[in-house]
Amino acid sequence: MNKVRRLCLVLGDQLSFDLASLQGLNTERDAVLLVEVMEEASHVPHHPQKITLVFSAMRHFAKALQQRGVQVRYVTLDDPQNTGSVPSELRRWQSLMQPDELHLNECGDWRLEQSLKDSGLSIQWHADTRFLCSRTEFACWAEGKKQLRMEFFYREMRRKSGLLINGDGTPVGGSWNFDAENRKALPKRVIAPLPARFSADSITQEVLALVGKHFAHHYGSLDSFDYPVTHADAQALWEYFLDYGLAAFGDYQDAMASDEPFLFHARISAALNIGLLDMRQLCSDVEAAYWSGSIALNAAEGFIRQLIGWREYVRGIYWLKMPDYANSNFFGNSRPLPGFYWTGETKMNCMRQAIGQSLEHAYAHHIQRLMVTGNFALLAGIAPSQICNWYLAIYMDAYDWVELPNTLAMVMHADGGYLGSKPYCASGQYIKRMSDYCRNCEYKVSESTTVDACPFNSLYWHFLMRHSDLLYGNQRMGMVYKNLQRMPDSKQQALWQRGEALLAKLDAGESL
Ligand code: SF4
Repeated sequence: MNKVRRLCLVLGDQLSFDLASLQGLNTERDAVLLVEVMEEASHVPHHPQKITLVFSAMRHFAKALQQRGVQVRYVTLDDPQNTGSVPSELRRWQSLMQPDELHLNECGDWRLEQSLKDSGLSIQWHADTRFLCSRTEFACWAEGKKQLRMEFFYREMRRKSGLLINGDGTPVGGSWNFDAENRKALPKRVIAPLPARFSADSITQEVLALVGKHFAHHYGSLDSFDYPVTHADAQALWEYFLDYGLAAFGDYQDAMASDEPFLFHARISAALNIGLLDMRQLCSDVEAAYWSGSIALNAAEGFIRQLIGWREYVRGIYWLKMPDYANSNFFGNSRPLPGFYWTGETKMNCMRQAIGQSLEHAYAHHIQRLMVTGNFALLAGIAPSQICNWYLAIYMDAYDWVELPNTLAMVMHADGGYLGSKPYCASGQYIKRMSDYCRNCEYKVSESTTVDACPFNSLYWHFLMRHSDLLYGNQRMGMVYKNLQRMPDSKQQALWQRGEALLAKLDAGESL
């Protein structure tokens, strides 16, 4: 095997031609290495569609690099020489090719980055320039702050990027955030566009067969895989959203509807997180759509905030606080994750819908994750590590840097309020307001203490009662605790008992 000057390892979530580690490649003397490894596919039971996406996109990316004249070494999962982990493969290829230099972009997972740093290999690390805010820049911003708030970070990123900023540095429209206009329920007359679908080419079909063979025991369906695996198809998905989804996305981004898994959501997060789309280009396209008059400011600002605000913010916190962050457990939760998270077999229609579509499509939108499956886990006192692993496994777009802070801190408030100022807990009334799920549920959302009462109702009050020592002093929880105090003792007791009965069922391994 020819000796090379530089060997660049590209991971499955780094499929971008713009990676810092790929700049200045010499096609004669340098090579790129991509490896499909069992450890990354199975350290949690990743959804088979997610594994398919990553492997197929890696194979397409390798082909695209070769078409650009780059020397590529590619190791498939079933290669008999495959040693099964990223560090061991890198060691093997270093020994085979004897490169002068090993180059690698920062990882998206602390566990993997640490294992590479511990591998004894001499690696030249590159910052992940796909993000607007570097790890160092975020650490500087956070320094000295006891609590961080996304809103202030987001303003910094708006100024830095210049997105939706007037010439005098003020925000377009006079406000930084139009979220209050983005919380509409879906009216009956509003019809969501059909989802864009992408058929499997021969490469994807090969990967589907491979994944079907090796990961049939992982939860989730492989049948409905229809996701883009190339830059061109990811761009087509994005343009479909610009044409048919974006205008209504702002208004209805928090809405949920039965048997409507995607509504007006772009469904681009998985492609973005593995490098098939470029965050700066997406923001620029959305800003252009606003200036052209085709979308309202709340839609444009809401989308841009997700990308340069929330997405960058959670990444910054992840790298600032890991590895101890992963063990945060503010409420001391220890209840195992109920089995119905893996099957969708529950009488709670909202949970059945959100889990069912997650198993079928490896996708649910942010409110389904935060206010349905996440809200239930928070109210039921599920161990944070178990619900974090579920999100990491089940969602096509879930990588540790984005999944962990979102689940651990935003969903479970397990960091005690470092990332967000209050727990996102809600009764069934929120779900009723934002969806049609309650209309077809065996439980009654109008009831709290009867045997057929919505479990979210009593569990909500049970959560507030059992953690009053930790939450009572939180200014943003003042109103709900006042409401609790105004309740007659008999009502409080009935809510507590109903909550206890539901938790006992979970502890007995029963579904709700
Ligand atoms: Fe969910 Fe309760 Fe509504 Fe049923 S009644 S769908 S459990 S919120």
